[in-house]
Amino acid sequence: MTVDTSTTNSAIPGSELSVVADTLPEEVAATGLVSPAEIGASSNRLVALAHIYGTTPFTQLEQARHELGMDRAGFERLLELFSRIPALRDAVVNGPSGRYWTNTVLGLEKVGVFDAVLNRKQIFPHLVGLYPGPTCMFRCHFCVRVTGARYQASALARGNDMFASVIDEVPINNRDAMYVSGGLEPLTNPGLGALVRKAAGRGFRIVLYTNSFALNEQKLKSEQGLWDLHAVRTSLYGLTDEEYQATTGKKGSFSRVRANLARFQQLRAEREAPIRLGLSYIVLPGRARRLSALVDFIAELNEAAPDRPVDYINLREDYSGRPDGKLSPDERAELQDELNQFREKAAERTPALHIDYGYALHSLMRGADVQLVRIRPETMRPSAHPQVSVQVDLLGDVYLYREAAFPGLAGADRYRIGTVGPGGTLAQVVDRFVSGGVAVHPQEGDEYFLDGFDQAVTARLNQMEADIADGWGEWRGFLR
Ligand code: SF4
Repeated sequence: MTVDTSTTNSAIPGSELSVVADTLPEEVAATGLVSPAEIGASSNRLVALAHIYGTTPFTQLEQARHELGMDRAGFERLLELFSRIPALRDAVVNGPSGRYWTNTVLGLEKVGVFDAVLNRKQIFPHLVGLYPGPTCMFRCHFCVRVTGARYQASALARGNDMFASVIDEVPINNRDAMYVSGGLEPLTNPGLGALVRKAAGRGFRIVLYTNSFALNEQKLKSEQGLWDLHAVRTSLYGLTDEEYQATTGKKGSFSRVRANLARFQQLRAEREAPIRLGLSYIVLPGRARRLSALVDFIAELNEAAPDRPVDYINLREDYSGRPDGKLSPDERAELQDELNQFREKAAERTPALHIDYGYALHSLMRGADVQLVRIRPETMRPSAHPQVSVQVDLLGDVYLYREAAFPGLAGADRYRIGTVGPGGTLAQVVDRFVSGGVAVHPQEGDEYFLDGFDQAVTARLNQMEADIADGWGEWRGFLR
């Protein structure tokens, strides 16, 4: 299961950089910071600066300064000028790589957790992933878990007590502080409904990331607490039984997921349950043409409950296995074409559907050749970022990265920072790691323990740290 705790923003009309650039000289003049003779040159530099941070958001300020060929005093004046013109900020967050800003960075900036990490401040993790599944019925070929790895059923009772204690511990100031995912498949834990009910009772909005193979009517009857979820987000692994089998190894699994989701649609409409239904779909190599069938599938689900259409879909790419994570020009062109057709067809057949294209597909649709963030062992942070997020598995083990919390995963142990249980609460486990100054030195291959979110957070922290070290503390990180 891959988690994405993104918030989504639509493009801001009129905020394309080319549009902003047209009126920029007037805006620059209106600030009164620049002499009339300098307005043209300053405007050009501001456009260049907005372009840098709209396409490569994790650029360090010194690097941007060098690219613009400016001295420090001039660059500082430019940053000041930039901060006075809100349309430029809009152009950056609406740029080809804007999803890094809107989906991840700015939300975390708002709550100050990046500074907490850099200052090694002890705070409760902003996000806590609960990974309660003891097993999974699928064997996805790209899944990092060791085939067949699972937790013992005997761990369930104690594990669920531990999760209940974590739910009690999480401060209520962030209603979206917890989500349920894996690791393995959460719905294989029969106590999940009760845990969700407990969390919802405290006011949390819990999103469940699931493959929905087990989300049948009987499950929803026997675990009423599941109706207290804020959202169910189903990872789709294909659009036919054959495609599903090729990915998950399980026969007939698409038919079952499809039937479960259609029935779920009817039941939530009958109950008038506020629970949201979302999907997530990874565009696997060679399957871009299937995007049209994806719209048909969603339209079919909508027919099961015409008044409660599917709420959202998150499309993601799979660049794994390609050198540098890059697509060939042909693949790129095809994917861009298919994505645009998908958008048009969805607008027609599933108009209520909110579509999030994620970091990479968003830029690809814009025709921009932006580079995805790729953290390597040498750019991983030995102190990681537990103040931003941690993951807790069924044994109470606390992991620093989202793809590390799978049982029996070679090397993942080094990213386990302690165990919630009689020996300590989650806050104590994290505090011990932070205040103890513990450092985990990455080894080759460890970067695969980071998902896209962990990578973006790591890149942001590295950027901020470099900016501060370069004497740009006041402006560190560019936008905040
Ligand atoms: S095998 Fe299970 S846990 Fe792994 S990706 Fe597939 S559904 Fe998720």
